[in-house]
Amino acid sequence: MTSEFGCDREEEVVRAFAVGELSGQLAEHCESCDNCREVIHVSRVLKKIAGETKSQVPAAGFVWWQSRLRHKQSTEQRLARVMSLARAATVTVSALGLVAWAIVHRSDIGVGLREVGSSVAQWSSPNTASSVLALAYITMLLLVINIVLTVRAHVSNRRG
Ligand SMILES: [Zn+2]
Repeated sequence: MTSEFGCDREEEVVRAFAVGELSGQLAEHCESCDNCREVIHVSRVLKKIAGETKSQVPAAGFVWWQSRLRHKQSTEQRLARVMSLARAATVTVSALGLVAWAIVHRSDIGVGLREVGSSVAQWSSPNTASSVLALAYITMLLLVINIVLTVRAHVSNRRG
């Protein structure tokens, strides 16, 4: 069964050796077949190397866990980047909107600012007494209206 280009049973031998079931007829074949003897030899060397490096190769679960962790971290980093971008976009849009609104309503804002400024000037001026007096009058007026309404309600209840 030996030929220049290997052996027909080579694949069978490799598979049997890999699972540790090289026995019987196949083992006998390997005794007589140079090709398969060579294949077994190479397989043994490879197995030895694999056994020596086994302790240095981390367990599959650990590798999987590490890749999961890396993936999770990169996902979180991506998410953080997207979030910061979204925040920046929101701030930019808000600022642009505010600017646009200010441009459209610039006359109203001017009037409003003037009003606020004048009222602030009024309150901060030494002539605040009149304003305080007006406030006192309004408060008294509201109090009087309240009393009148309460009395009226009381009287109408008595009548009814
Ligand atoms: Zn063979």
